[in-house]
Amino acid sequence: MKYTIGIDLGGTNIVAGLADEQYRLLDKAAVKTQPEKGFDYITDNMARLVDTLLQRAKLTPADVGSIGIGSPGTPDKETGSIIFSNNLNWHDVPLAAAVRQKTGIRTWVANDADCAALGEFVAGAAAENTSMALITIGTGVGSGIVMDGKLFCPAGSSAPELGHTTLICGGESCTCGRNGCAEAYISFTALIRDGNRAADAHPDSMLAKLRREGQALNGKNIFDCGKAGDPVAKELMDRFIEYMGQFLANVANSFGVRAIVVGGGISKEGDWLCRRLSEIVVREMFVGEKFAPVIRMAALGNDVGVIGAAALEQYR
Ligand SMILES: [Zn+2]
Repeated sequence: MKYTIGIDLGGTNIVAGLADEQYRLLDKAAVKTQPEKGFDYITDNMARLVDTLLQRAKLTPADVGSIGIGSPGTPDKETGSIIFSNNLNWHDVPLAAAVRQKTGIRTWVANDADCAALGEFVAGAAAENTSMALITIGTGVGSGIVMDGKLFCPAGSSAPELGHTTLICGGESCTCGRNGCAEAYISFTALIRDGNRAADAHPDSMLAKLRREGQALNGKNIFDCGKAGDPVAKELMDRFIEYMGQFLANVANSFGVRAIVVGGGISKEGDWLCRRLSEIVVREMFVGEKFAPVIRMAALGNDVGVIGAAALEQYR
């Protein structure tokens, strides 16, 4: 059996996992990232994690087919370098080459959002589909796409950045400098912004009451107030879901994916939200239901990036 190793490089932790041929995780090891200590320190730690996994499984580098790394920032697909990462303060660093040299194992690099999509594709919520998109709703809006069994990551590009496509022309300002991006409407940051505005405008709402009790608004408590029937919160929640549904229909119309997986904190809302989003997508799809993708919540939790990275050589 050939094993693979996936490495999820985050701003806080580096997590490495040993996977079998079905991309099931057999073991994991982690270390603090400490990005301020620089590129060599981080790649030394990656090699050490790989060594730990091999020793614990009584394997040698020859038993491992490949290493995949999911990194923040923009990778160069051909060379395996990271062209730019804001989070790690990296400019054109040879990530794949360094890890390959330190471990003796073939190494590939992709963006962390792409690895997450691949994880849900090989072992998660979209495992029986040939094309899928993962949309992660959190502070921002992340996106990754698998098309006909291959990760969609065009050379010389940071695409897909679906969160920075326009949902409302001339709308709210976005962190990227544009106006009206999807991220400015369907991220938790956007929901909290609108929740605070609504609480200011409606002092009798549950949202304003929460704030008076000293609770900061967040995605979950705004949704909870909406589900509990507070009319101000419900209007916000309904509009947020409508925007999300419209956005997912745009994704489906653009890429023809058969499944869209929703990840991030909002995925905890579960089936009722999937049904609402599906109704909107079916209503908004070109040619309607026939081509509408299934909408699912993410299945893999925190391991998704490691699992996707482990599958990178096969699906890149
Ligand atoms: Zn934007």
